[in-house]
Amino acid sequence: MTRLAILGGGQLGRMLALAAIPMGVEICSLDPTGAAPAGAVSELVVGGLDDVVAVARTAAGASVVTYEWEGVPATSTRHLETHGSVVRPSTRALEVSQDRAVEKTTFTALQIPVAPWAAVDARDGLDSALARIGSPAILKTRRGGYDGKGQAIIDSPDAADAAWTDLGPAGELVLEGMVDFERELSIIAVRSVDGEVRSWPLIENQHRGGILRVSRAPALRVTPELQELADGYASAVLHHFDYVGVLTIELFQVGDALIANEMAPRVHNSGHWTIEGAATSQFENHVRAVLGWPLGRTAAIGASAMINCIGHIPEPIDLLGIEGVHVHAYGKSARPGRKVGHVTVTADSVADLEPRLAAALAALPADDG
Ligand code: AMP
Repeated sequence: MTRLAILGGGQLGRMLALAAIPMGVEICSLDPTGAAPAGAVSELVVGGLDDVVAVARTAAGASVVTYEWEGVPATSTRHLETHGSVVRPSTRALEVSQDRAVEKTTFTALQIPVAPWAAVDARDGLDSALARIGSPAILKTRRGGYDGKGQAIIDSPDAADAAWTDLGPAGELVLEGMVDFERELSIIAVRSVDGEVRSWPLIENQHRGGILRVSRAPALRVTPELQELADGYASAVLHHFDYVGVLTIELFQVGDALIANEMAPRVHNSGHWTIEGAATSQFENHVRAVLGWPLGRTAAIGASAMINCIGHIPEPIDLLGIEGVHVHAYGKSARPGRKVGHVTVTADSVADLEPRLAAALAALPADDG
C-alpha cells in the first residue's frame, strides 16, 4: 500500500487524508496534540514538529513526506531530505514562505508585483521606512504571522510608537504600504513531478479581522486576461522552486493588476470549495502530485461559495435543508476565533447560488472571532 506522511494534523491534513483514502493511500500524520483533527482518519504520531525523532517515525515507510502547515520547521524537513526521504513540496519553498521579506524578494525577482515594503529591524528604521512608504501602512512580523496576527496598522506617523510597542519585541519586521484594493483573490495551482501545471479558477475572498470569512468561486467579473495573469504568476513560482504539490498565492486586485500578498506552500482555506465544486479537489490533486501520479481536471462545476465557521461548530440539521449545502466539521473544540468547520454551497449558476448562500449565512450563528 502507498503510504504518505503528513507533517501537521490539522483540518488541512484531515481533508488531505479524506481525499487520499479512496485512492488506497495510507496516511500517517504528525501533530503535537493527540486530539488533532487528522487523528480521526489517519494514523497519528503525537510529537513536536521540531522533534526529529518524531518526524522520522512519521516518515518511516512512507514513499513521500508532505506538510499541511507552513510553520513546520525547515530543520525537520531538511533532516528528512538528508536522510533519504522525498519531501514535497521542497524545503526551499517552505523556507521562503516562512519569511515575508524573502517571499517578497522572490516575487519581485519573478516579476510579480508586491506592495511597497521595507525590512524594519529597529525603532528608527521604522521611521525611515514610514517616510519612504507613507501611511497608512501595515507593520508585520517577518515570520510566524497568520490570520492577521502579528500585524499592526499604522494610519499616521503618530501611530508608529504604538505599533512598535506591539510588535517591536518580535524582532524582524516588514513595513508594507496599505494596498487600496478592489477585492482580494487567490490563485491555487498544482504542479506535478513532470512539471505540468494546472490551476483552479480565481477565487474571491472576503476577510474580516484578518480572517477569511467567505470565498466564492469562480470569482465573478474575471476576464480571461486576469485569469491568465494569475495563472502566469502561479506557474512562475511553481517552476522557480521545481515545486511539486499545491501552491496558493493570495492576491489584491487593483484595476487590471494583481499584487501578491503572500504564498502558502500547501492546500488553502480558500480552496475548500473544490471538494464539491471542482472536477478534482485541491486535496486530491495535492496527493496525486506529491505521489508522482497524473493530475486531475481543475475546472469548476457550476458556482460555489465557502463559509468559514469560526468559533462555532456547524450543526448539520440547521443547514442541510438548504439545497446545495455541504457541512464540514473538523472535530475540533470551539473557541473564539478558531476555525472549526466550513460550509460549502454549490449551485449550477450564480443566480441559484446567491439565495442559497444567503440562507446558509442566516442559518449560521454570527461569527465570534
Ligand atoms: P496576511 O496575514 O498578510 O494574509 O494579511 C491578512 C489580511 O490583512 C489580508 O487578507 C488583507 O485583508 C489585509 N492586508 C494585509 N496586508 C495588506 C496590505 N499591504 N494592504 C491592504 N490590506 C492588507
